[in-house]
Amino acid sequence: MRIVLIGPPGAGKGTQCRRLVEYLDVVHLSTGQMLRELRGQNSALARWVASHMVTGELAPDHLVMRIVRQAVFGGGTSRGYLFDGFPRTLIQAQLLDEQLAALGQRVDLVFELRVPTNELVARLVNRAERENRVDDTAEAILARLSVYETQTLPLLDYYLGRVCVVVVNGLGSPDEVFGEIRGAIDLARGGGAQW
Ligand code: AMP
Repeated sequence: MRIVLIGPPGAGKGTQCRRLVEYLDVVHLSTGQMLRELRGQNSALARWVASHMVTGELAPDHLVMRIVRQAVFGGGTSRGYLFDGFPRTLIQAQLLDEQLAALGQRVDLVFELRVPTNELVARLVNRAERENRVDDTAEAILARLSVYETQTLPLLDYYLGRVCVVVVNGLGSPDEVFGEIRGAIDLARGGGAQW
């Protein structure tokens, strides 16, 4: 089973992904986490990645695809994947589909975690203070939200008609949000989805 979770920064993707991974026993693949690990290394590539992340820009598609390819298509797993924060551009979505198709696989379900912008800004400012996140300056927060709207939201149009897309209200408590996600998964399974 391959699930994509799309949502703006601050929507609670991390929390929901942790629960989903436990519920479904799939591999959690967070490109944000992988890029943070890469950024921590002492290399020119690491510094280049850091310069993208600090401004709220996306990392280049070819770099992200290389990292994903190594993780997913290098080792491989029969357990399936939860893609968290990936794909984030149309090109990434198309390349992922191509690569999965070559293995006779596909994205099975896409979740969009939807939260109004004013609530996102409040959550991100709060989190930056609480967790002392150096990436989350006010400028970077606004830049990331605008990047999400212009580059990532169009993915939903790409997936609509191809894959089952489920819009989840991200405003509830983590339990309520997870209840919605789990409900959709159980429904898809009950409907005979072949995962
Ligand atoms: P995240 O933890 O998913 O919010 O990602 C943190 C940062 O990593 C983003 O603001 C981007 O700069 C970068 N990033 C993560 N995933 C991707 C992706 N799929 N494509 C491009 N950049 C990404």
